[in-house]
Amino acid sequence: MSEQITVADEKAKKAAYEGNKLTKRLRHHVGDAINDFNMIEEGDRVMVCLSGGKDSYALLDILLGLQKSAPISFSIVAVNLDQKQPGFPADVLPAYLESLGVEYRIVEEDTYSIVKRVIPEGKTTCSLCSRLRRGVLYRVAEELGATKIALGHHRDDILETLFLNMFYGGKLKAMPPKLVSDNGKHIVIRPLAYCREKDLERYARLRAFPIIPCNLCGSQPNLQRQVVKEMLNDWDRRFPGRIETMFRALQNVVPSHLADTSLFDFAGLVSGQVPLAGGDMAFDKETFHDPLPPLDEEGAGLAEAAPQRRTISILDSRRPVQESPCGG
Ligand code: SF4
Repeated sequence: MSEQITVADEKAKKAAYEGNKLTKRLRHHVGDAINDFNMIEEGDRVMVCLSGGKDSYALLDILLGLQKSAPISFSIVAVNLDQKQPGFPADVLPAYLESLGVEYRIVEEDTYSIVKRVIPEGKTTCSLCSRLRRGVLYRVAEELGATKIALGHHRDDILETLFLNMFYGGKLKAMPPKLVSDNGKHIVIRPLAYCREKDLERYARLRAFPIIPCNLCGSQPNLQRQVVKEMLNDWDRRFPGRIETMFRALQNVVPSHLADTSLFDFAGLVSGQVPLAGGDMAFDKETFHDPLPPLDEEGAGLAEAAPQRRTISILDSRRPVQESPCGG
């Protein structure tokens, strides 16, 4: 009996230790992304868009944690758009947000009926649905006086978008960690840009977020995205480090070695100019280094890949952070 208790104790200790490491790693990734892209500044009012999925829960949770210890002061308001999809459990998010004591707004807009009315049966509804959602969120951001709109897209979303654009759109384009909103009035930020989806899945389980299913609208999943996701997951299993290297490539773009005449003045090249860094390697035997190893527990892999840090980090504490045994 006592032996059984010891085994259970050991398991619980190990789980707490792993949970603590995961929490720290995610916090570091979010802090690094915020610093690298100057996502949050003194006095910002950050509107965190909460869908009820694992990523947006993690985003809110981590930002609330960083807010307590950051050397700058910023406020957070969580916003959920209830699109009136059948079966949406309207009480889940208010109850969760009340329990956190965070400022929040639930916005009710029946975009579901509009989409159903406008889009013929069997056609993809996502593009109109997300356009309508974006419009509502921009309006709410204005009403709330938000200076930043935070979305829960992560590193895997960014890489999937890169490949979707390459495979189906003929563009070398991903999803930016920070951008000006379509209406030009807001800054949209993606503080999870350095976070792995599998870490976010583990974090959601660790923190027992009350997840709301994402298929309430009845829409079919985007098959093209699904194919790309499976391709990346397969590479991740077979070639550890490749995903990190590909993300790093997004931070090391060399326009002179691509073929976009609007990004580089190929027409203006004349002999006698200083040779370009990297030069002409076309006839050289190619040698590549091994990819970066997968991120270590403290996320050193991405830290190396990231642009130069600013001197003051959002991770620099104003005061010690009180962390639970699981680090939350
Ligand atoms: S999956 Fe459903 S809720 Fe999500 S964007 Fe598509 S139509 Fe809208």
